[in-house]
Amino acid sequence: MSTERDAARLRRMAELRALYEGHVARLRAATDAAPLQLAREAHAEMDGLLEQDRRLTGAEAVRCHKGCSHCCHGPVEIRPHEAHLLVEHLRSAGRALDRDKLERQSAYGVDTWREQPAADQACVFLDAAGACSVYDVRPNACRKLLVTSDPQHCDISRGEYERIERRFCWEAEMLESAALEVFGLQLMPQALKTALDAGR
Ligand code: SF4
Repeated sequence: MSTERDAARLRRMAELRALYEGHVARLRAATDAAPLQLAREAHAEMDGLLEQDRRLTGAEAVRCHKGCSHCCHGPVEIRPHEAHLLVEHLRSAGRALDRDKLERQSAYGVDTWREQPAADQACVFLDAAGACSVYDVRPNACRKLLVTSDPQHCDISRGEYERIERRFCWEAEMLESAALEVFGLQLMPQALKTALDAGR
């Protein structure tokens, strides 16, 4: 029995490895494509993978909802193209980014993010009602973070990390790992600053 389980696990690992390598090869071949197109394709692909996972696994219901924004107060790593898409989205909507806040946030990394004053920990796109103001073009890191446990456990001040449960989609993780390998990921403030500067 355990031999069967081991064989199945090895098959699954080989399948995921092949998937990852396929993504890396495809993304390397696409590095010359227009940044906005790359970002939109990445988002469509991520949405497709998550939907497929939901259908195939009958995964537990996601409990994230509008106004629940605990995860929007942590460090978020994004692709460079996603930063260009976010900046372009704001420009076309006639909206400006809080550049001062970006500068302050840029002094912090993944390990030190929570050392910022509480107000600065919030994503620059989080609105006063606790909703994402760029929802349609939010990065893949935000798209794939789907929590199935009680959202109150996501409140970092409660110290209940071990009670957070999320829907974990290996295919989605392979896609973003490949993007990390090919494009590199950056924390959102740094990536946005670079995209803003490039558009000047
Ligand atoms: S982009 Fe939107 S969903 Fe992602 S962290 Fe910012 S406010 Fe939250």
